Amino acid sequence: MAGNTSPTVGVLALQGDFREHIAVLRSLGAAAIPVKRPEELERVDGLVIPGGESSVMDKLSRMFGLAEPLKAAMASGLPVYGTCAGLIMLADTLLDSINGQQTLGGFDLVVRRNAFGSQLDSFETDLDVPVLGKPPMHAVFIRAPVVESVGAKATALASLSDGRVVAVEQENLLGTSFHPEMTGDTRFHRYFLDKVAAA
Ligand code: GLN
Repeated sequence: MAGNTSPTVGVLALQGDFREHIAVLRSLGAAAIPVKRPEELERVDGLVIPGGESSVMDKLSRMFGLAEPLKAAMASGLPVYGTCAGLIMLADTLLDSINGQQTLGGFDLVVRRNAFGSQLDSFETDLDVPVLGKPPMHAVFIRAPVVESVGAKATALASLSDGRVVAVEQENLLGTSFHPEMTGDTRFHRYFLDKVAAA
């Protein structure tokens, strides 16, 4: 752990849009570092798992020896924020996984990959997120997952107009189906940094 006033926040940098998250976190004053190795994971006070391709991220995290230390760190309270593929990585139960795909788990959720099908691969919408206050958040969904079921330990933070849950929280864990790192609205990252500061 960093043990100073500005927290060190890692961004899992095996694959996906980790650079965008690093830029947002740095703009908010956090010391953000890419995490590819277990030694780097040991230095962070919180971790963002970015969007990308969850099946590839799963394979690489096991290959690089990160999956097990990360599960242990989460279980002992490390704050982790997963966006899109990152949310998939955190789910206890995954639907429509590819053959052999595993998740880290820990988040009491059932998540479905690519939940919007090929006709609606990507879309944008405005979402009410009560914990972030007003105005609604403009949210970008790219081959996004949805939370099919929120377990007893987890809480829904935002839903689409049809009721499907797309943002969730559970103690040290935070997840969004969409990509706040792409829109310039930093409220979810700030919310996560508050969690890191409180941990
Ligand atoms: N469809 C991707 C997956 O299954 C997630 C897409 C994203 O992260 N934007 O991992």
